[in-house]
Amino acid sequence: MSESRYIPCIGLEVHVQLKTESKMFCSCAVSFGEEPNSLTCPTCLGLPGALPVLNAGAIERTILTGQLLGCETPPVVKWDRKNYFYPDMPKNYQISQFDLPLCIGGGVPLYELAYPKDHQKLIENPGKVVELTRIHLEEDVAKSTHHSNYTTIDFNRAGTPLMEIVSEPDIDTAEEAVAYLNSLRQILVYSGVSDADMEKGQMRCDVNISVRPADQKELGTKIELKNLNSVSSVRRSIHYEIGRQIEELEAGRSLTQATWRWNDEIGQTELMRTKEDAHDYRYFPDPDLLPVRTGEMLARVQEDLPELPHEKVARFEKDYGITHYDASVLAAEQSLANYYETAATGTKSAKKVANWVINNLLAELNERSLTIEGCPVEAAKIGALVDLVEAGQISNNQAKEVFAELFEKPDQGPAAIAKSKGFEPADSGEVEGFIDEAIAANPGPASEVTEGNDKAANFLTGQVMKLSRGKANPKQVTELILKKLRA
Ligand code: ZN
Ligand code: MN
Repeated sequence: MSESRYIPCIGLEVHVQLKTESKMFCSCAVSFGEEPNSLTCPTCLGLPGALPVLNAGAIERTILTGQLLGCETPPVVKWDRKNYFYPDMPKNYQISQFDLPLCIGGGVPLYELAYPKDHQKLIENPGKVVELTRIHLEEDVAKSTHHSNYTTIDFNRAGTPLMEIVSEPDIDTAEEAVAYLNSLRQILVYSGVSDADMEKGQMRCDVNISVRPADQKELGTKIELKNLNSVSSVRRSIHYEIGRQIEELEAGRSLTQATWRWNDEIGQTELMRTKEDAHDYRYFPDPDLLPVRTGEMLARVQEDLPELPHEKVARFEKDYGITHYDASVLAAEQSLANYYETAATGTKSAKKVANWVINNLLAELNERSLTIEGCPVEAAKIGALVDLVEAGQISNNQAKEVFAELFEKPDQGPAAIAKSKGFEPADSGEVEGFIDEAIAANPGPASEVTEGNDKAANFLTGQVMKLSRGKANPKQVTELILKKLRA
């Protein structure tokens, strides 16, 4: 309808649980799935008089994230209290950062495969970098679970280091928002900062959306959608909300700044509360914590920056001679990239190894609902399998049989499996005999080969393969046939 007469503006606030041993302001362990309330102390329970102590590892991981995303880290940062009534935060304030956060600016580059699969051919703005406002560090709250007529609360999560990544309203579509989350997650996992698993609540997303008429300069009224916990609900809720806001404006109604929630079951947004502004939180510097000088930590982080996904893609293209697309698939996950590199190292064809990993291995893992981490076949064996084919020891079809067997007999190597299946190259004398036999039995095709018909040569090769029961190397056979008939 009239959608093109309106411009949507989307900004994301993403909370990420950091992968640290201990909590943000105490030494309690960070661990998922333990006995409720077993990982607590007076500080993370919010008891009066308990004092916070900073977790240097959490600060370092946040600075690292900022460095990877091109942010500035101010020389001094500080901690502020964000006042709130939190049933799951009994001290009634969250220690966060207000005006001096750990990271400022920067951006998240969106990579192609991060877009929804059905949208990868329709990317409006390839190579887009979504601008960031800031990244700050704060503490997570406890976890409430609502039962029929009572609520339980688990403080194991309370005080877990939480990094909040705030983007500018720089995202144009629901699909870009998906690409943003996937691209961000990839970098966080790559650098070991977080496991960023949305299903486990390690990455949670608030979405700010406004629409405005195409001829209007200033942004429209902002609606915030709270606590989206899957990439698909982010996509669906944005589509829904853009449509709803346009409908309101078209009907001549105005929108009120407010916080809404997404109801995934009915596929609609619902009003939660009208939005509080920053001044409602009465931020003030936390008197229990000193500001932090960041210089030394920043220098240490800069000394040892991990390879970023797009850098790995470029290196794979160059070092292994594979296509940009293949390199992007292989580098999408650190563990898959490592697997490929181990498999490709020292083989005759790193390109063929890439084909095997992408076309055969990933399909087989998918079939068996396994991840690359749980792959029973060692990477080096894929390299060895490719080498057997390249050396003419086995044919491609035989290699497929050996490959299937590798999953059943993970303690055996491809050479041993090929041998046990009788896949040995026929000796050359035998092959010569088969070729003579095939030529004698097929004089028509043989004379066509002499006249330059390659298809006829393929036909004869097929006959020789049959005679050798698949043991001959088809490439070699074709060469020998051509030599014989065209000499
Ligand atoms: Zn504690
Ligand atoms: Mn926050």
